[in-house]
Amino acid sequence: MEYIINISYIVASVLFIFGIKMLGSADTAKKGNRLSSIGMLIAVIVTLLGAGLDYTWIIAGLVIGSVIGIVAAKRVQMTGMPELVALFNGFGGLASLLVGWSEFAHNPDFSNSENPVFVSFAVIFAILVGGITFTGSLVAYLKLSGKMGGSATTFPGQKIINALVFIAILGLGVLFVFTHAAWALYAVIVLSLLLGVLGVIPIGGGDMPVVISFLNSFSGIAASAAGFVIMNNVLIVAGCLVGASGIILTVIMCKAMNRTLGNVLFGSFGAASGPQQEVEGEMKAISSEDAYYILEAAESVVFVPGYGMAVAQAQHAVKELGSILEANGAEVRFAIHPVAGRMPGHMNVLLAEADVPYEQLCEMDDVNDIIESVDVAIVIGANDVVNPAAGEDPNSPIYGMPIINVHKARSVFALKRGQGPGFSGLVNSLFFRENTRMLYGDAKETMTNLVAQFKD
Ligand code: NDP
Repeated sequence: MEYIINISYIVASVLFIFGIKMLGSADTAKKGNRLSSIGMLIAVIVTLLGAGLDYTWIIAGLVIGSVIGIVAAKRVQMTGMPELVALFNGFGGLASLLVGWSEFAHNPDFSNSENPVFVSFAVIFAILVGGITFTGSLVAYLKLSGKMGGSATTFPGQKIINALVFIAILGLGVLFVFTHAAWALYAVIVLSLLLGVLGVIPIGGGDMPVVISFLNSFSGIAASAAGFVIMNNVLIVAGCLVGASGIILTVIMCKAMNRTLGNVLFGSFGAASGPQQEVEGEMKAISSEDAYYILEAAESVVFVPGYGMAVAQAQHAVKELGSILEANGAEVRFAIHPVAGRMPGHMNVLLAEADVPYEQLCEMDDVNDIIESVDVAIVIGANDVVNPAAGEDPNSPIYGMPIINVHKARSVFALKRGQGPGFSGLVNSLFFRENTRMLYGDAKETMTNLVAQFKD
């Protein structure tokens, strides 16, 4: 039986790996998702066939978990996805914490284990990483959903307190590994939960995408540690895959923002910095009729989607306008910033859903190289990712973050509903520039109006 279980785990792991690889391209992503799900189904079925399980609890957990999962997934809006991902990460962490704790509760002196020191280390590690992931993700969820202020919360001595909590956890952890003292384990649980909160509250605004991805990686590491606690090979492998892919994504995102991970985690984005440059000028509106005349004559157009496109669900109208402009002789590109929207790949998913041709998608660096020759840049509900302060104002919290330099295009149309700031809460001087015109209103309505102008 053990032989069959392990062979099945290898098959499941291979399916996970191929599934993840396929997620790398919009064309194969659905197939990749299905492949990974089959891997997970195999892993779950085979594990359930293992000896000595109490099916009453498993079925109860399955039913309650499925009901909550189905209701949450059905209810969530596309714009609420990142919050849901944050919650999923958090509950993954909590599950690992509970696995660690239950191993201890069932076998407090680890006498059933072949290697008590190793298992007690795995227990404390699963609890530490799981606890940080749980409360850190809850704070990320509260920030993303607007239930808690999105900006950095800082107080004097914060870093020292965080460091002291971490050192205390390490000390208590070592004590637990060698003495198995229950009080040390419970103290680590409390302090880990506290460290999750303390670690994420000073991170704000534009750094949230990195935090979500980092916590995702943490949830994988916690799962892997839980795998070592119960000696389940597939949990170890799956946890490592999540941990590794999460950290790779985190590094890619840090590079996209031109920050180090240390700076993201300890730099308190959005906390008070020096006086920022005054923004001069006024925001000038343009009607869709006038915008139509300019677009009609344009030879090259770049669409820059942002979070507002997701809110308005404007992707289909955007794609339709792109096709019309192309048929009209313009060269059309879609430039996606790596942190546009509210989750990694957010814009890629929406544009793929609308069947935007892959060859029209353009990397940020490539579009910046040719931006000065672009006749019209159409910014659809994007704000932070096109804020020139990132390159021009050393006191801006986003200074140094690469942006799509739409302000260098000949004309810019900015689609937004009003004067609302972007996620980081910063004023955007792009909207006040001479070459920018505001197309006010819901992005989908504005796009549909522009399409209608071309069809008339
Ligand atoms: P922003 O959040 O900076 O700006 C979105 C803009 O969309 C707002 O200015 C808003 O203005 C406008 N908007 C909202 N609804 C509509 C609508 N229905 N129609 C038209 N416009 C609308 O978006 P960006 O994509 O530029 O930047 C993403 C930000 O989110 C970055 O700061 C990034 O760091 C952060 N972030 C990214 C994550 C990721 O993984 N991608 C995760 C978490 C945060 P108005 O209200 O006036 O309409």
